[in-house]
Amino acid sequence: MKPGDSVSVISGVGPALVAKLAAIGVRTVADLLRYYPRRYNDYSDISLIANVAPGQVTIEAEIKQVTGRYVRRGMHVTEAVASDSTGSIRLVWFNQPYRANSLKAGQKYFISGVFELRRQRFAMTSPSVELASDFPVNTARIIPVYRETKGLTSRQIRQLLARCLSVAETLSETLPAWLIKDQKLMPHSEAVLTMHFPGSVKQLDRARIRLGFEEVFGLSLASLTVKRALVGEKAPPVPFDPAVAQDFVKHMPFALTDGQRKVAWQIFTDMQASEPMNRLIEGDVGSGKTVVAAMAAVMVLHHGDKTGHGHQVALMAPTELLARQHAETLYKLLEPIGYHETVGLLVGGMKQAQKVAARQQIQEGKIRFMVGTQALIQESVDMRALELIIIDEQHRYGVDQRKELMRKAGHMPHVLNLTATPIPRSLALTLYGELDVSILSEKPANRKPIITKIVSPNSRAAVYKKIDAELAAGRQLFAVCPVIQDSETIKATSAEQLYEQFAKKDFKHRRVGLLHGRLKPADKNKIMEQFVAHELDILVSTTVIEVGVDVPNASVMLIEGADRFGLAQAHQLRGRVGRGADQGYCYLMTSDSSAPSRRLRALESSNDGFKLAELDLELRGPGAIYGTSQHGELDLRIAKLTDIHLIVAARKAAEAFLKKGEDLLQYPDLNAQVKRYITVTRLN
Ligand code: ADP
Ligand code: MG
Repeated sequence: MKPGDSVSVISGVGPALVAKLAAIGVRTVADLLRYYPRRYNDYSDISLIANVAPGQVTIEAEIKQVTGRYVRRGMHVTEAVASDSTGSIRLVWFNQPYRANSLKAGQKYFISGVFELRRQRFAMTSPSVELASDFPVNTARIIPVYRETKGLTSRQIRQLLARCLSVAETLSETLPAWLIKDQKLMPHSEAVLTMHFPGSVKQLDRARIRLGFEEVFGLSLASLTVKRALVGEKAPPVPFDPAVAQDFVKHMPFALTDGQRKVAWQIFTDMQASEPMNRLIEGDVGSGKTVVAAMAAVMVLHHGDKTGHGHQVALMAPTELLARQHAETLYKLLEPIGYHETVGLLVGGMKQAQKVAARQQIQEGKIRFMVGTQALIQESVDMRALELIIIDEQHRYGVDQRKELMRKAGHMPHVLNLTATPIPRSLALTLYGELDVSILSEKPANRKPIITKIVSPNSRAAVYKKIDAELAAGRQLFAVCPVIQDSETIKATSAEQLYEQFAKKDFKHRRVGLLHGRLKPADKNKIMEQFVAHELDILVSTTVIEVGVDVPNASVMLIEGADRFGLAQAHQLRGRVGRGADQGYCYLMTSDSSAPSRRLRALESSNDGFKLAELDLELRGPGAIYGTSQHGELDLRIAKLTDIHLIVAARKAAEAFLKKGEDLLQYPDLNAQVKRYITVTRLN
């Protein structure tokens, strides 16, 4: 057996099991070996029953009798008695009817759980149990628990792994010898083996450190490799002209926040250099990133005028809706200083004739501030004078897109990324090592924190009353639903259903609009424009309004089926309100009346996107947060991104690796890992 062999070579693995393993992503023996446990049960510290005290305990005992029965309202109870040489103890499980069949009277088990008083009787409630005979005699009794799927139990996975021990020993080392020595790391093969068959808690910790280090090291190498690829590229410097900046600030409808001022300064400094700027501005929703980007743009446009080169700026937004809104905002911001006519929109949904005209104006140099979607770089647009590209609300701009731009422009422009997804520092450092990161932490001073409340469907009427009071005061409501239409599978109020209810019943005295992704682009724009112009009081929509949309007069957000949204996403949605001087409200409507999740409670208690992001990271892992589909591969299986020490050490090691002139090709596993990370972290 070799690591690369199909799992079918393991004895006892037939086609059915091959299929089940494939479903959890395990195809080869090596995949199986790297299918690490989700958690461990520790049966190593065994008590005698006579000595058991309330609290967490583990015993080694024989099961005497097992009974299962249904009690009131369909609740099922399994009871058993376990005995050792010193006494007997009662075991109880609720709603696990299979227990009665899986426990065998007369057999010895390791039993672990909480010993407590329940209905005036002491018992171990819902303990985990393992057959004592399943354990090799001399191992510590720390039992890995794997993510189970239908028809594939932890026990089966453990049994399969036991047949691959000899292969685990042959796994080759992935890191250079000097690094293992410097960092005092456990060898790779030993660490993999230890994850599945830990000899002690201490050994398990060392294995985790080793494998976690390996993950973060690979990720850091990937971002440093990208960074290196950018070194040596040239971009035309954009001199800083204080008069231009002052003129802009003087004509703004509000004063810049200190954060905006600082970040603008960092950008101006970057652009004066002859290397391309590659900066990410992270700012919570509503922190005012657009204004900062506009300042950068004006500096470039001005330089273009002064030199007569007609320098261009492009802004790319993730949706047409947002692109249109940006074009309008920028037009207004630049009007007082006379740059508004340089702004032009180019999106796929425009009529052919409009597109032709826009391209013509770009060609003639009339439009120099191009605002559009990703399509902008695909369109045959004249970008020869492109000096600055601003990318809004996309995680970042990949190497390939940069190359494409360079090809079109004939040189590398300065790149400014804006994102409202607050990426915790640790993650930013690891994932985005090649970017300079600015954080816009404060919000404009006039903002009041949004008041957030979890509400259940029972209290609809009361919530609607409060909403109506806001509408009566001239404010507007966003109501967001998780789905467009009613569906069998997702039990949540759909946008169409809510729209009907609002328009015909609950808010029939108000002006209600419906917006979702299946509408034609022209209709979407019309509805959005009506809402912006306050020709609608209520906009029922889906997550199409998630990013960027800015309607300061909207003060209430109602999120239907709030439990269906991720933490970061719900925070984004909430960020659509509270953007003006009025008090903002957000109602998180749950799908039913069961207890709200930790996620919703976190949202209710915090308005801080960075804090919520840290929590989300802990609850779901980076892959789940920073993207969909293939980004799941970003999930670090072992390292915790909250472990700053590990991250810093691994990052330093990656720098040392490159400095030594080490060749990645010498380390095939590492090389493959780095390549994969480079692909997946190209997030757009
Ligand atoms: P985001 O960072 O989420 O992209 P925007 O750039 O859309 O935020 O700005 C949110 C709102 O705050 C806009 O209506 C904008 O006009 C306003 N705004 C931006 N900067 C300031 C400021 N310094 N003072 C007051 N309001 C501001
Ligand atoms: Mg924005």
